[in-house]
Amino acid sequence: MRKPKLLMTPGPTPLPPEVISVMSQQIIHHRTKEFADIFSRVNQNLMQVFQTKNSILTFAASGTGAMEGSVVNFFSEGDTVLVISVGIFGDRYINICKTFGLNVIEKRYPYGQVADVDEIIAILEEDRENRIKGVFVTHNETSTGVTNNIEAIGKYLKNKEKILIVDAVSSLGAIDLKTDEWGVDVVVTGSQKALMSPPGLAFVSVSDRAWEFYKTSKLRKFYWDFKKYQDNLLKEVQDTPFTPAVTLIRAVDVALRLLLDYGLEKNFARHKKLAKLAQLAAEKLNLQLLPKKEHSSAVITAIKSPEDVDIEKVRKIMNSKYDIMVTGGQGSLKGKIIRIGHMGYVDEFDLLKTIECFELSLLECGYKNFEVGQATKAVLQEISKEV
Ligand code: PMP
Repeated sequence: MRKPKLLMTPGPTPLPPEVISVMSQQIIHHRTKEFADIFSRVNQNLMQVFQTKNSILTFAASGTGAMEGSVVNFFSEGDTVLVISVGIFGDRYINICKTFGLNVIEKRYPYGQVADVDEIIAILEEDRENRIKGVFVTHNETSTGVTNNIEAIGKYLKNKEKILIVDAVSSLGAIDLKTDEWGVDVVVTGSQKALMSPPGLAFVSVSDRAWEFYKTSKLRKFYWDFKKYQDNLLKEVQDTPFTPAVTLIRAVDVALRLLLDYGLEKNFARHKKLAKLAQLAAEKLNLQLLPKKEHSSAVITAIKSPEDVDIEKVRKIMNSKYDIMVTGGQGSLKGKIIRIGHMGYVDEFDLLKTIECFELSLLECGYKNFEVGQATKAVLQEISKEV
């Protein structure tokens, strides 16, 4: 008999039982008060999680769909934008912007590095003719386990005639993102990570300044026309312009209630603690993190492979023998790192089990530079400090 796999991945993440159970209910029609009540509550609760006064647009799509939406709604062909990339998902924004004919200034950092705010400000300062209309940045770069400093970029851009667009797909709800206070104009996220819900929904917040940009945007859009969604939220009975993913919205409704009952701040602290435990385990295994410790993410820990070990084999053993799914490197990082996700509905005992199985799998793959049980013991001792 086998248990379901433990998803210690950067999404999708495990679901709380309450979320699973609400999805077994009969479908309700979306043009009813019953659905409108759920949808309005979801919107209100999402505003709290996004830390914004603006309503949240909900789409039946994955995060990438909303990333595309955040390009086509605010810009026109030939517009200049600055896209900051510290990994695969920053690169994705570069590709989307280019697909729609924007003039992209690419600021790429080597994988594992954080974006240097001073360098970004210098690029923006050099733009004396104010050609740059938008700045795109990834909050938490899932491919490298690095978290960027959005607050500093947001504060710099606050009174400028440009909008700041942030990909918070793998961070929202688990890493602090003060949308309004930090001056973030557009925040994009997905349901399947820290929000403890199934894949399939994307959410976007839009500031007043961004709505001004919307008015002059000439890129074509129909399903992705944000204004249609906004108008439906302004109605007395809130709904969506097209058929919503009713069951997923029910799931998110339950998940958000769990998250907010637990407390947003407490959840940020909990994720930091999980990251601290994962970092400690790496240290005790004599393994290095891909990023510097101070830039390492609260939701995913990227660990470099030891030279003489096939880390992909380690990952596969964890998956097939121990039923623990972690992820490897993407693109040029394939075979070079292993990534342990600790976001959403996972706790320190899930992480402890992951570390135990990581130790056993490393051993099976011939890694010798550690003593079995060393990392597990250190993590347990760290947890015991709070007993
Ligand atoms: N941005 C980031 C930071 C992500 O982690 C992901 C998903 N891994 C995406 C964008 C894309 O989201 P999706 O796979 O839901 O399209």
